[in-house]
Amino acid sequence: MPVERVLLAQPRGYCAGVEMAIKALAWMVRVFEPPVYCYHEIVHNRLVVDRFRTLGVVFVDDIDEVPAGAPLMLSAHGSAPEIVAAARDRDRFVVNAVCPLVTKVHHEAKVRASKGFTILYVGHAGHDEAEGTLAVAPDAIRLVEDEDDLAQTLPEVRDPSKVALLAQTTLSLHDWQGIMERTRQQFPELWTATRNDLCFATTNRQAALSAIAAEADAVVVIGSANSSNTIALTKVAAAAGCPTVVRVDGPDDLDVASLGDAHVVGVTAGASAPEDLVQAVIAQLAPTEGVEPVFVTEEDEYFPPPRELRELMPALDSLAALVLGADPVAARARGGPFSDDRDADASLVLADLAATENR
Ligand code: SF4
Repeated sequence: MPVERVLLAQPRGYCAGVEMAIKALAWMVRVFEPPVYCYHEIVHNRLVVDRFRTLGVVFVDDIDEVPAGAPLMLSAHGSAPEIVAAARDRDRFVVNAVCPLVTKVHHEAKVRASKGFTILYVGHAGHDEAEGTLAVAPDAIRLVEDEDDLAQTLPEVRDPSKVALLAQTTLSLHDWQGIMERTRQQFPELWTATRNDLCFATTNRQAALSAIAAEADAVVVIGSANSSNTIALTKVAAAAGCPTVVRVDGPDDLDVASLGDAHVVGVTAGASAPEDLVQAVIAQLAPTEGVEPVFVTEEDEYFPPPRELRELMPALDSLAALVLGADPVAARARGGPFSDDRDADASLVLADLAATENR
């Protein structure tokens, strides 16, 4: 049976943190001789990482693999303090593309630890973001993956009046609420961030998917297997009662027959999945009655480029002006090439870069 209708979640795909990180790495590729190094995957999306690999970016999981003096980017998921220090140690130009919302959780961990709290951190073992956050306050913080973990961690709490519950930014809201309520029953004075640590992009994508999942016969979530917010989306669709939930990296992974006789198919994408993959998946679904966008909320968040790039680029413009006999002060004052960064689309930036490099 052909698919009749696609319900397309809005918002979906790239969030402000991913936009910032991809554009920042694209600038690194433009400015420096290859190879540019990146500690961990810049974002958890296989195709984005492969696209940067073809542009000469080398991804490493060990900072010692980066030669002294080589340009280095630290990923959007945030890095442990000792990694940031080691990265800057060997005469390298380092750009830290950590999402500001991950930095906020690092700050919470630091402050609560300094006040003597036991910190319970709800996250996924081995995930880059979780590892970076746990390393901020290793003596005070304990990882909680599920409610069973919580029971095992409780005896380690030193002072029941000083317990904080923090979270990975990309959890499913349902998972967070379950653990948060249980922890609060144990510790009525529990400290949490005012609106919890789940980021706007995570909760908006989950809300948009919730709005379509109950109506859809099947849901296709586009994103990689190591993307926490993508996996959270699959859980949201299942929890909403959708009988068939499929995660794919892109159209090549999609077996339309696996959707059974689904007439109405919901489509969404995790925060690191490019829009061109969404469109390619829809083309493969080929809905006979077309695509119905389901809008839940507008997202206009914007994160400016990392500080290191904001300082470097105007300086380079100023130098170029000097070489060309123009006014270097005026060139610097223009703020470098970032004056229109807010309107630049990371997917197009990456596509343009690939086209330029292939010429
Ligand atoms: S998903 Fe949230 S925390 Fe992660 S990069 Fe995007 S905005 Fe930042």
